[in-house]
Amino acid sequence: MKKNSIDTKCVQSGYNPESGDPRVLPLYQSTTYKYDTAQELADLFDLKIPGHIYSRISNPTVACFEAKIADLEGGVSAVAFSSGVAAEATCIMNVCNTGDNILSAKEIYGGTYNLFDITLRKYGINTRFFDQYASDEEIEKLIDENTKMIFLETVANPGMSVLDFEKFSRIAKKHKILFVVDNTLATPVLVRPLEHGVNIVIHSSTKYLDGHASCVGGLVVDGGNFDFNNNPRYKEFYTPDKSYHGMNYVKDCGNLAFGIKLRVQLVRDFGNPMSPFSAYLTNMGTETLHLRMERHSKNALAVAEKLSESKLVNWVKYPGLKSSNTHELAKKYFENGMYSGMLAVSFKLTKEQVFKFMENLKIFKIVTHIADVRSCVLHPATTTHRQLSKESQKTAGIDDTVVRFSVGIEDTQDIVNDVIQALNSI
Ligand SMILES: *Cc1c(COP(=O)(O)O)cnc(C)c1O
Repeated sequence: MKKNSIDTKCVQSGYNPESGDPRVLPLYQSTTYKYDTAQELADLFDLKIPGHIYSRISNPTVACFEAKIADLEGGVSAVAFSSGVAAEATCIMNVCNTGDNILSAKEIYGGTYNLFDITLRKYGINTRFFDQYASDEEIEKLIDENTKMIFLETVANPGMSVLDFEKFSRIAKKHKILFVVDNTLATPVLVRPLEHGVNIVIHSSTKYLDGHASCVGGLVVDGGNFDFNNNPRYKEFYTPDKSYHGMNYVKDCGNLAFGIKLRVQLVRDFGNPMSPFSAYLTNMGTETLHLRMERHSKNALAVAEKLSESKLVNWVKYPGLKSSNTHELAKKYFENGMYSGMLAVSFKLTKEQVFKFMENLKIFKIVTHIADVRSCVLHPATTTHRQLSKESQKTAGIDDTVVRFSVGIEDTQDIVNDVIQALNSI
């Protein structure tokens, strides 16, 4: 039942045409909106009535896509951004000022790590990194009165370890801090973090949501399940906002406070919304998300199992394998025995032989992308993780022997055969 309902949501949520309306979500390629009376527009600015003012802040096509993703994740609202990192940066700005800090797992997407470790520090927002397997006490030692969020990924790439939601939900609740999770690689079809104590979900929609590698985009989904009122960490949520004629977000917006503040204050001022065209295409991609995740998962498991048997392989990291260090967590949080399409493999080969293997592949192409319909591979040590020191690469589980696979939705046997022929012809 659960699965049927998420499948139906992928196809239908977000857009409900009235009699005579287009059946398919239309692309509203307009920056602006016309009103009959001056009073209506005044009421819109006061947020007394719903509607669109200017497409930097909202747009009907983008709004329908946002509603679909909010529904898929089980949240109360979503705001769509021009990219995944724009979603992350703006989400942090929604709670952090200069002098504040966030806690983040060490093992996260490289672009996010850069944002946290270098760029945000320049603006006085500091990230305290932790090892996600450390004890509660060790992690809690990093928390002080300026700590505004705890950030992790549902499944971290390329280590492919699955987040212990229960542990971090416990820590976040104890200290009344927002628990924020990047759910890009799992998608709401496989894992819904808001059901496991998370407050805010982030997506790079560039990956599986779009699924066709055509649009860069991101989202912040608000669970509406965090009490900001009178929590001294989040004063701006329950005191008047000078930049929005004295709005008190908690009082005026109730459990929509986080998303409304994010939109009317920060997307307004930073100007980084998703474009209507990207929302149109990404919405169309999401209509088949449930079908694609099933095939991505089936194909990735087949490749993972086949490579595990090879004498040329040191290890395979895939949450669906019994040998995975987080297989028990994967079974607990992932639905219907599907574990997504990403895996990392270490070969008993030299760097030159690993390159040769990658070049021998015919279906898998060498691409800096993941999570679209086409299978691809990448060598993290010389590309995405190039900036890291050998030491940091080692912590991230990467060296010259490691290849990251993003397994597509082609025929399962064709994909497995491709990997085997490429290994055999080194
Ligand atoms: C790609 C990615 C991002 C960044 O998203 P962009 O859309 O490329 O800006 C963030 N988190 C994860 C897990 C990603 O894979």
